[in-house]
Amino acid sequence: MQFEKAKTAKDLPEDPYLSPKELLTLQHLLVERAEGILEGSRGAVAELTEERSMPPDAIDMASAESDREFAIRLARREHRLIEKVLQALQCIKDGEYGECLECGEAIGYRRLLTRPVARMCIDCKTQTEKFERISAM
Ligand SMILES: [Zn+2]
Repeated sequence: MQFEKAKTAKDLPEDPYLSPKELLTLQHLLVERAEGILEGSRGAVAELTEERSMPPDAIDMASAESDREFAIRLARREHRLIEKVLQALQCIKDGEYGECLECGEAIGYRRLLTRPVARMCIDCKTQTEKFERISAM
């Protein structure tokens, strides 16, 4: 797995939007998030495997089926989350982390602390959400 915490800020490329210390903190947050997601999916899979080893009758089969569907849905959701975390970690590697994809301004350290996978600054995000609400009406 490519999720590894950088030991010092010097291990990370320079980033125009964040100080080395801020970048290191956020890199750790992202790695921890990835580990958390992986941990969660391992737990769900282990539970399901356990259930499937019981003697199957018709009811158990049906429930195993919906469990499997549930596991797949869960896996898809986790996959999307992991994708976002991976993208953010890649951005750090490329020295482009913290830039708003919409306006090119810095997203800001405080926003990234609460939402390290954010790709837009709060202004652009609010704008997009407003637009989405209007087009949903
Ligand atoms: Zn923006």
